[in-house]
Amino acid sequence: MNTYQNQHIRIQNSLTGKKELFKPIVDGFVGMYVCGPTVYSNVHLGNVRTFMSFDMIYRYLLHLGYKVRYVRNITDAGHLTDDDAEDKISTKARLEKLEPMEIVQKYTVDFHEILRRYNFLAPSIEPTATGHIVEQIEAIQKIIDNGLAYVANGSVYFDVLKYNETNNYGILSKRVIEDAIENTRALDGQSDKKNPQDFALWKRAEPEHIQRWNSPWSEGFPGWHLECTVMSTKYLGEQFDIHGGGMDLKFPHHECEIAQAEACNHKAPVNYWMHTNMLNLNGKKMSKSTGNHLLPQEIYSGENTILSKAFSPSVTRFFNMQAHYSSILDLSNDALLASEKGHNRLMEAINLLDKINSADTSTFDISAWKQKCYDAMNDDFNTPILIANLFDAVKFINQLNDKKASITSKDLDLLTSTLNAFTFDILGLMNESKSDNNTDKLSGTIELLIKLRAEAKANKDYALSDQIRNELISLGVQLKDGREGTTFSLN
Ligand code: AMP
Ligand code: ZN
Repeated sequence: MNTYQNQHIRIQNSLTGKKELFKPIVDGFVGMYVCGPTVYSNVHLGNVRTFMSFDMIYRYLLHLGYKVRYVRNITDAGHLTDDDAEDKISTKARLEKLEPMEIVQKYTVDFHEILRRYNFLAPSIEPTATGHIVEQIEAIQKIIDNGLAYVANGSVYFDVLKYNETNNYGILSKRVIEDAIENTRALDGQSDKKNPQDFALWKRAEPEHIQRWNSPWSEGFPGWHLECTVMSTKYLGEQFDIHGGGMDLKFPHHECEIAQAEACNHKAPVNYWMHTNMLNLNGKKMSKSTGNHLLPQEIYSGENTILSKAFSPSVTRFFNMQAHYSSILDLSNDALLASEKGHNRLMEAINLLDKINSADTSTFDISAWKQKCYDAMNDDFNTPILIANLFDAVKFINQLNDKKASITSKDLDLLTSTLNAFTFDILGLMNESKSDNNTDKLSGTIELLIKLRAEAKANKDYALSDQIRNELISLGVQLKDGREGTTFSLN
């Protein structure tokens, strides 16, 4: 018997606006698609938050025993700043005098490195837009044949008004079509579109546009929304269980995905639409385009002007998990400091478990506590409530350690396995405090060098203090001088 047969998840479905019992199309199997990054710059912590929420969801589904096919794409072509402007990757390639695929490679490598640092599980399939041009051309032809797209000057546009005669454009975002027209009117006049709310399926490439492919309509490139429709259909079928992404993708991206899929296959593509909320910095959405962002590497190296110290990936992960995925989360130094305290308290309690002796009776109902952990996760993946439950266990472990409580050996096993499962397998935290001997030796050695450097500085031997700092940097050890002394981070 798989755990999912006893544990029933309810998901807040953006399509219906309701929290619904999750029932996969095929019992025991889950198909999940999440819009991946556009690889034209480094991912910031906001992007990471969204992907981390789905990593946690993926982890929980796996923990329950579902066979999950998790598809998260890489957008390596076609992401226009708006429908008539420039492609983000081509623009960056021209600015940096690089091949577009060099840009794609550079930032895909960066993305994977960040995911590795933050202990992400790899998705089952990570398809790219450029790897699915043929399928995108086929889908466009199908939409044209079904009378819902038209060719104009070598580009192909989706006919939103025509589609809306028989379907509901706005079914997900709840926008009425007139609002969509309002929002796109600025582009009117400079476009080949019949109507401003129409969106591009294929764009004829201007001479300076580098990424281009042959098609029946022109040498050009596919529109951004299309890749997700094509890749989700290819790998998960015409109808699948979960589609996710950040809230900001609901309109137009996901609305367009639904329209395209309906226009191709005459079916609603997704049963549960899930949207994660934004990570804010200084009260504003973290964003690449406005420059209001922190990069993950700036956080774990401590090299930034916003935070007082470096914060480890596991602490940052814990900080993210302390908020529900659908709430706005504000990043600040104080919030990270508080998370670090909580994170370390949890890890210290877990480390104590090895030292606890069992007794004849338990003074804490472990089975009931375990079910409360499941209840939290079953309630739309409520990680803050889960963490509150984990802290009930932390309190109990500390009482055990102080001999103010007792536990049977069977319950101790159950407590240990449950705490490990929720902390490491599901939340994906890392026990950085349970360092092995070598890590302790390394830290001790670096602390010694920090001390010697401080002494050199005090003796005004700046040549020596700089030498220590620079040689540590060349070994990948960053020092950061702060009010409370010098800290270090490894990269
Ligand atoms: P992009 O590479 O811009 O397409 O973004 C990748 C993912 O990150 C999308 O799902 C966005 O919704 C999400 N995202 C962008 N900014 C933020 C933010 N500040 N907080 C949370 N998620 C974000
Ligand atoms: Zn997408």
